Amino acid sequence: MEGSAMPSSRTIVDFACPACGAGVKTQRVAATYVQCRECSTRRPFVRTDLINVTGCPGAGKTTAGRVLLRRLGPEFVVVDTDLVCQPTDNVDERTWNSFIECLLRLVVCIAHGGHRPVLVGYSTPWQWDDQPLRPFLGRIRHIALYCSDAELDRRLRQREWLDARERPGLLDLNRRFRTMPDVHRIDTTGASPDDVAAEIAALLGG
Ligand SMILES: [Zn+2]
Repeated sequence: MEGSAMPSSRTIVDFACPACGAGVKTQRVAATYVQCRECSTRRPFVRTDLINVTGCPGAGKTTAGRVLLRRLGPEFVVVDTDLVCQPTDNVDERTWNSFIECLLRLVVCIAHGGHRPVLVGYSTPWQWDDQPLRPFLGRIRHIALYCSDAELDRRLRQREWLDARERPGLLDLNRRFRTMPDVHRIDTTGASPDDVAAEIAALLGG
């Protein structure tokens, strides 16, 4: 290989304007392009919808996600967000917000690769809505898995690595998902992972 030049800092997607440097808030995002309000330069863009399968730990996300992965066609990319999350991402609200921003950027990249993104892992609708890059995504469909208190308690007790002191907070979180507005809720209490994955797949038309 000749030369040792570093690759350009440009990526396949520009959130800020590559022509004049105006920031992300100055960009108008349409379905197939982004236009800078400052200098009017247009660039091609793929504004994707996102399927976000969420819920409390123990609600059945990972198990359903594994089945979902086998059910969906190759146009979908299913990402288990626990696999890309580091302990340092969950230290406080600020680090968690930047983790969600990272996921948002990942989702945009998946869409530019010609695929439909599906995230499986804990997050809430407002954590997405608060993102400065939120206009770069289309519709986010949140699918919240939840179960009964007794069932969650049973599942959490099976996780021997989980500190028992975390259980009350997780039971509260599960209750929040059970009544959360603007999400499609799926009760996993008596449902098999196949049932749950089938319901999610039906929502995706896959
Ligand atoms: Zn510009």
